[in-house]
Amino acid sequence: MIHLSWNMARNIKVSDHRLFEMIKYCLLRTLKQCQMQRDLLLNAGKELAWHGRTQSEPAHYCSICEVEVFDLLLVTTESNSRKTYVVHCQDCARRADLDNFVVLEQYKIEDLMHVYDQFTLASPLPSSS
Ligand SMILES: [Zn+2]
Repeated sequence: MIHLSWNMARNIKVSDHRLFEMIKYCLLRTLKQCQMQRDLLLNAGKELAWHGRTQSEPAHYCSICEVEVFDLLLVTTESNSRKTYVVHCQDCARRADLDNFVVLEQYKIEDLMHVYDQFTLASPLPSSS
């Protein structure tokens, strides 16, 4: 849902008020979550490695609890060196051992903030009557 919401915010105009509110709320929540997770990881002494993402890259899910992982992918050091990127969410990574994980960053916070700001309610199409 997170990945989808950001894609919709980037690519489509939404004129339905309820849908707009839903997406905007999801964006705000993930934006806050990303900032909080960044801080937590940096405070824990982790470095964020810039990874970026490709246009068609699918959403990522935690390999343990299957929650959607957005922006900050915690991958095991081992899978990172093999480039197989086994993704964990922050909770599962902490439960295992954060030391064995590398943090890959997929989005710039400024970029996400820009998308958030740009996403506004589109005016409905004029009716043909
Ligand atoms: Zn998990």
